[in-house]
Amino acid sequence: MKNPILGIIGGGQLGSLLSVAAKKIGIKTVILSDDENAPAKNFTDKFIYGKYDNKSITQEFIDSVDLVTYEFENIPFNILQSINNEKTVLPKPEINNLIQNRLTEKNFLNDINIQTTQYVSIKHIDELKENENFFPGLLKTTTLGYDGKGQYKLNSKRDISNEIDFSKEYILEKFINLKKEISVIITRFGNQKYEIYEPIENVHEDQILKHSKIPADVSKEIIIKSTEWSKKIVEDLDYIGTLCVEFFIDKNDNLYANEIAPRVHNSGHLTINSHNISQFENHVRAVCGLEKIKTKKIYNAKMINLIGDDILIYRDKKFSENEFFFDYLKKDIKNKRKMGHVTIIEK
Ligand code: ADP
Ligand code: MG
Repeated sequence: MKNPILGIIGGGQLGSLLSVAAKKIGIKTVILSDDENAPAKNFTDKFIYGKYDNKSITQEFIDSVDLVTYEFENIPFNILQSINNEKTVLPKPEINNLIQNRLTEKNFLNDINIQTTQYVSIKHIDELKENENFFPGLLKTTTLGYDGKGQYKLNSKRDISNEIDFSKEYILEKFINLKKEISVIITRFGNQKYEIYEPIENVHEDQILKHSKIPADVSKEIIIKSTEWSKKIVEDLDYIGTLCVEFFIDKNDNLYANEIAPRVHNSGHLTINSHNISQFENHVRAVCGLEKIKTKKIYNAKMINLIGDDILIYRDKKFSENEFFFDYLKKDIKNKRKMGHVTIIEK
């Protein structure tokens, strides 16, 4: 199919940047979002607002596109599946279903011999008390968490409190003494065909990504291992599109896969300016079955996330020619919320 119309579920900054990348190569996008004021409505060709379980809304969406992708993983499996019955959904709904739950995601990684932090499933407060050997640890909801939301740091048994909502399921992860965090972004086009970006070094503040940069200041061994693991993950999943693997490196230089995002990722925003083809364009090319173009780095780069009020200073700032400012045009400024980013390339 030449130049299909691409449906995207979700209207946040990732949906916006996917739309911009698609437009650049002549692909029209239609966005379905359950947020009436989703920022992507400023960037997409067509915007459909409605709840994802509303049959007539999803039908309108299905009827206006040739295929579907998504910008976030928290979409109920049955909804993705029913869309997939009419128009191809990529990445495949089963992959999203596996990855959207931290427990099945980590089980999958260990099954293919990729090291993760030590973890245990916690469904009840008693199980938490019985697993003291995982303290100090992080208790994370198995589903729907992002930017550190739904997480509790537990240093010892004494930190188990009534504030923890046990109507939800959790995993308890041993806390790691982090030296560094990196991510690897890879776009798979088919059997053994991919474009892979060099590892990106990430700094989080309050569990929210603050800075990303390339090159990552890590050893050759870490670069090789994280790249090999990422290839293994996409091959094993028979994945199509862009995927991101987040990694931890501890003080003894051990590498752990932390989580997989079955989508484009915030740490890859810098690829818009650092590479000939961004993670977004590669995703659109892969899911739409377009030509794979050799992806090359042009510049080293650093990205700063603008969180909450940060955006106000940048809206009035004058930028040099090596600085690229992106305003997500979100309706309201909220604390701890990603409002925009700036990428600085090294010329
Ligand atoms: P989210 O889905 O919110 O991104 P993550 O599991 O990636 O959840 O956690 C967010 C951040 O919290 C990580 O990038 C890391 O900085 C910190 N973190 C998470 N798990 C651990 C851990 N086991 N040990 C140390 N730090 C952790
Ligand atoms: Mg994360």
